[in-house]
Amino acid sequence: MLISSADINRRVKELAVQISAEYGQRPVVLVGVLKGSFIFMADLVRHLTCPVRIEFIGTKSYSGSSSSGEVQLTKDLDKPIQGEDVLLVEDIVDTGLTLNYLQHMLAQRGPLSIRTVAFLDKPSRRRIEVQADYVGFVIEDRFVVGYGLDFDQKYRNLSDLCVLAA
Ligand code: 5GP
Repeated sequence: MLISSADINRRVKELAVQISAEYGQRPVVLVGVLKGSFIFMADLVRHLTCPVRIEFIGTKSYSGSSSSGEVQLTKDLDKPIQGEDVLLVEDIVDTGLTLNYLQHMLAQRGPLSIRTVAFLDKPSRRRIEVQADYVGFVIEDRFVVGYGLDFDQKYRNLSDLCVLAA
């Protein structure tokens, strides 16, 4: 186990307090990046005190063997975000390709602001300079599962964050 569910719950509450203080009573559109963020999103949103709208977006990344990984949209938002304060909710920022793609793509739709909250950050693996505004935990270069994160679609339901055994 890398991070216990008790530590996760404590940290998610802290993030929600910080985010709530910064948005005040401004309505926020939370955009969860499927599928890995679904548990983080569900926990975070219940501790936020600002008015929220919930959206989900889906991406697929092809890192392959080439140096320039590509990101593709698999599910788009249901409604426009023009003039809205958007908070992207990510499970983990790894190479940074997904976050970079989503930030640029959503910025073109004219939101008032875009910020990002990432449950995890693996800065040592970055291939593109990108940073989440709020980060739950910074971790080493390990492949983690649980709390929404999968290996081959398994282990998302683990309450603790675990390192996948080799
Ligand atoms: P990126 O490399 O574009 O920053 O991250 C793309 C996606 O790869 C993440 O949203 C996440 O779903 C997946 N990913 C990256 N690192 C890990 C990890 O350690 N464990 C799991 N389960 N998924 C990861």
